[in-house]
Amino acid sequence: MMRVRVLPPDGTICATAPRWSPRKAVIEFLSDRYEWMQKAIHKVQSRPRPIQLNYSEGEQVLLFGTPYTLHTQLVVSKEKAHVSFDGQSITLHIKPDSSREARAALLQSFYKERLSMVVTVYMNDYQSKLSCAPIPFRILRRKSVWGTYNVRSRSIIFNLALAQVPLECVQYVVLHEMTHQYVHAHNAEFYQRMSAFMPDWKQRRATLKTISIAH
Ligand SMILES: [Zn+2]
Repeated sequence: MMRVRVLPPDGTICATAPRWSPRKAVIEFLSDRYEWMQKAIHKVQSRPRPIQLNYSEGEQVLLFGTPYTLHTQLVVSKEKAHVSFDGQSITLHIKPDSSREARAALLQSFYKERLSMVVTVYMNDYQSKLSCAPIPFRILRRKSVWGTYNVRSRSIIFNLALAQVPLECVQYVVLHEMTHQYVHAHNAEFYQRMSAFMPDWKQRRATLKTISIAH
């Protein structure tokens, strides 16, 4: 099966085709979708781009859709670098001369911990509602998808960037991926199952579509 996607943030076209597809068929496939691609590129490029953060004092960072002020504070002597959150602001406790990468990694670890907690709560809730066995999950950085359900291993990968989107969207992605254990395709049956537990999934998906995945 041939496939074409337009990737954020710059609208790079990513096309895949079975190895032995005739060149002519590939060209035809792409030219049939020329207008669609142009529209998709425009759509992706007109999304607000994630701001380049320096992870330094006073910057605004998102946690589940809410902006918080980032503070930086030096750790005392042998203390390890860590993050604290008081509901008002997020503080990075860093070593002197910590690099931008080190500060970014520290915030990512905080995001991972928070997202893991939230996902666990939602998954437990849906596990009992769906009466299904627990599904193992991992949180990883992903470029273009919010979640992936792996049929073979019956496991889910969630995008770490979900820590920055509103909770109702995280909940949507959780139910979406969990629904894939019953229906693989995004067909009528799939959405019927979604609606049974989340009647407003469409609005949530629409909100999610306005958000660019921060890399
Ligand atoms: Zn899906």
